[in-house]
Amino acid sequence: MSQILYGKVIADGIRAELADQISKLELKPTLAIVQIGDDPRSNIYIKRKIEFGESIGVMVKLINLNKDCSTEEVLGVISKLNLDNHVTGIIVQLPMPKHIERERVLSEIVGSKDVDGISGNSKFIPATARGVMAMLDYYNVKLDGVNAVVIGRSDLVGKPVAGELRKRGAIVTVCHKGTDNIPDIARHASVLVSAAGEAKLVTSEFTNPDQVIIDVGINSIEGGIVGDADFENIVDKVKAISPVPGGVGPLTVAMLFRNLFDAIIQGLVVNNT
Ligand code: NAD
Repeated sequence: MSQILYGKVIADGIRAELADQISKLELKPTLAIVQIGDDPRSNIYIKRKIEFGESIGVMVKLINLNKDCSTEEVLGVISKLNLDNHVTGIIVQLPMPKHIERERVLSEIVGSKDVDGISGNSKFIPATARGVMAMLDYYNVKLDGVNAVVIGRSDLVGKPVAGELRKRGAIVTVCHKGTDNIPDIARHASVLVSAAGEAKLVTSEFTNPDQVIIDVGINSIEGGIVGDADFENIVDKVKAISPVPGGVGPLTVAMLFRNLFDAIIQGLVVNNT
C-alpha cells in the first residue's frame, strides 16, 4: 500500500506556528495582492490566501485592476506598494491577461517584498518550491545522493524546485517539453516532481516501486481539478504520492506566508503604522 502525502496537515501546522509568531510581533504584517481582471480560478486562489492570511493575523489588501488596464498602470500600482511602509509583501496573481508585459511587471516588485519569489530580484525561495521541500521533509524523504527528476523548467516552479533539490544533495535531471524519452528518465528516479501542467502525463511507465512522486500540477478537467499524475492507475505502483487537490497546493499558500513572516524577521521590511 502506497503512502499518500497529504499537504493540509503540514499546512495546518505551519498556520498554527505562524499565528503564534505573528501574535508576538508589535506590528501586523500586510500582504498586498494585485489582481488584474477577474479570472474565476484566480478568485479561488486569492480567497484561499485571504483566508489563510487572516487566520494568522496578517492583513491582506486586495488591489483589483480592470482586465483592460495597461502595463504602465500595473507598474504604477506596484511602484506605490514598493514605497508603502505599511506593505510587507506584494504578489501579483497569475496568470495575467496576455496584453500585460509579464516580465516587466514581475521585475518591478522590489526584491525584499517579492514574497512569491517570482522575480530574479527576490530575496525568497519561491513559495511552491518551498512547499515541495516542506512536504519532502515532513515525510522524511531521503534526498542526499538520490536521483531526482523534475518535469517542467519554469522560473516559477520547475527551476527553483530543481535548485532546492540540488542544495540538498540530490542528483537532479530536469525534463521539459522537448526532452526525449521522459518515461525512461523518470523511471530511474527515487524522487519525481512533476510540474508540467498536463493531466495524466505521469503514467505507470514513469514509475518504479520505490519512487516518491510529488505532483505539483493543477489541471482543470471536466469534473474538477487533477494533477499531472494518472493517480488512480499509479497510486499502487509507487512508494508514495501526493494527491491533487490536497497535496502541494495548501503548502504553497502556507509558504507564501512563511516568506512574508521572514521578510519581517530578517529586517527586510520595516513596517511603520
Ligand atoms: P509553465 O507552463 O510555465 O511551465 C511548464 C513546464 O512544463 C515547461 O517547462 C514545459 O516545457 C514543461 N512541460 C509541459 N508539458 C510537458 C510535457 N508533456 N512533458 C514534459 N514537460 C512538459 O507552468 P508552471 O507555472 O511551471 O506550472 C506548472 C504546473 O504547476 C501547472 O499545472 C500549474 O497550475 C501548477 N502550479 C501548482 C502550484 C501549486 O501550488 N500546487 C503552484 C504553481 C503552479
